[in-house]
Amino acid sequence: MSTLYNQLPAIDRLLREPALQALSAQYGASFLTQILRAMQQQARDTIRQQQQLPHWHSNWAQEAASRLAQRSRSALRPVFNLTGTVLHTNLGRARLAEQAIEAVSQTARHAVTLEYALDEAERGHRDRALADLLCELTGAEDACIVNNNAAAVLLMLSALAPGKEVIVSRGELVEIGGAFRMPDVMRQAGCLLHEVGATNRTHLKDYRSAVNEQTALLMKVHTSNYQIQGFTKAVDEAELVTLGDELGLPVITDLGSGSLIDLSRYGLPAEPMPQQLIASGVSLVSFSGDKLLGGPQAGIIVGKKDLIARLQQHPLKRALRVDKLTLAALEATLRLYRQPEQLHESLPTLRLLTRTQESLQQQAERLLPPLQARWGDVYHLAIAPCFSQIGSGSLPVDRLPGYAITFAPKDGRGSSLEALAQRWRKLSIPVIGRLQEGRLWLDLRCLEDESLFLRTLTS
Ligand SMILES: *Cc1c(COP(=O)(O)O)cnc(C)c1O
Repeated sequence: MSTLYNQLPAIDRLLREPALQALSAQYGASFLTQILRAMQQQARDTIRQQQQLPHWHSNWAQEAASRLAQRSRSALRPVFNLTGTVLHTNLGRARLAEQAIEAVSQTARHAVTLEYALDEAERGHRDRALADLLCELTGAEDACIVNNNAAAVLLMLSALAPGKEVIVSRGELVEIGGAFRMPDVMRQAGCLLHEVGATNRTHLKDYRSAVNEQTALLMKVHTSNYQIQGFTKAVDEAELVTLGDELGLPVITDLGSGSLIDLSRYGLPAEPMPQQLIASGVSLVSFSGDKLLGGPQAGIIVGKKDLIARLQQHPLKRALRVDKLTLAALEATLRLYRQPEQLHESLPTLRLLTRTQESLQQQAERLLPPLQARWGDVYHLAIAPCFSQIGSGSLPVDRLPGYAITFAPKDGRGSSLEALAQRWRKLSIPVIGRLQEGRLWLDLRCLEDESLFLRTLTS
C-alpha cells in the first residue's frame, strides 16, 4: 500500500508540467493548487479505502482541467426552455428585449444619474424618470418601484394600514406560490385582514357592512392563478371605488401580472390593465415587472400622488428599492410600449406568446429530420400538437395551441426517458423539456435559435 502512496505525484512537480502550466495561466495558480490538493486528498482516501489508485491517476492534468472547467461554470447558465411555459419562474421569467439588455450594460459600465438631476444639480429621486414614463403609460399621478410585486404589496399595506383593518373578499385570499399568501402578508405588514363575503360570492353590501372606524383600505387581489366558476359574484374595482369615495377609503389592487396592452388584440386572453383600473379611480395598483410586462424583476406601484409619497417616505422603501440595473432595464422595456405596433417583435415575451400554431408546426417539420437522424435509433420521434402556457400565474386557464417534438423510448422503458432528460440537462446548453404521458416533450414555442439548438442536440 505504501508503494501506492509513493506513486502520487508531488504538487510542485505537477505544477511544472506544461499541461498544468497552461491551466495555471488560464485559471490562476492558487485556484489550480487548491484543486490539486483536493485531488491528492481524494487519491489518498481511495488508496486507504480501496487499496487502489483513483481511475484518473493516469492523467492528472486532464482531471484537473475538467474539475476547473466545472467549478468555473456560472450558476446562472443559459438553457433552452422547451417546457412550454413562457414565463417560467424557475427559469428566470421574462427574457429582456435587446434595448433593455443594452441599457443594462451601459448602466453597469458607467456612473449614471441615478439620484442626480442634471438641471438642478440636486439629489433627484431614484424612481423619478421611470415614474414619469409610467404616468404617461398608465394615466396615474405618480409611481413607486420596488424589488418585486410581493414587495409592492408588503409596502402598500405596511405604509397605509399599520395596525388597521384591510377589507378583502374571501374569494381573493390568494396564495401565489412560495410563502406568499395574502393573509400572511397582511400579518407581516402589521395589518388586520377583514375577510368579507363567501368564496364564490361577494357583494358590495358585504364590504359596506364590514367598514368600521378601524378600516384603512379596501383591497382587491387579482385571482391570477385560479378562477372561480359557476354561481359567482365579485365586486369590480369601479363599484368599490364608489363605495370608497363615499366612505373616504382608498381602494388598492394587487394586479399580479397586469398588462400594459390589450392582449386580445393578439388573439390572447385578455388580462386586466393597470391603466383601466387607474381610470376607474383605484388609488394604487401594483403589478410585476417580469410577468406579462416582459421586463426585469420589479414591483411597480402606480396611483395617487399623496399615497405614493407615503410609500416613498416609508423606511421599508429603502430596504425594498431596486438597483440601477433594474431601473435601466425597466425604463428601456417601458419605452418600447410607446411603439405598441412593434411590441410583438421587440418584446421577447410577446413575440413568443404570439407565435402561431402554423409557424410552430413548420418549425417542427424543419427540426424533425436532423433530430431523427441523431436520436431515431433508440427513440421514436413524433410531431405532436400541444398546449403551451403563459406561466407565472398569468391566465392559467387559457392555453396556447402549439407544437412539440416528442421522444418515446423504442423499448418502452420509462427509465430511459428519465435518463434522456437528465442527459439533456448536462449539455453545454441544457435542453429542458417536459415529461408527460410516457414521452419527453420539447415544446417549440420558446425556441428561437434553431441552428444553435440543433448543434447542441445533435453533436
Ligand atoms: C405574481 C403575483 C404576485 C407576486 O409577484 P412577484 O413579482 O412574483 O413578487 C403577487 N400577487 C399576485 C396576484 C400575483 O399574481
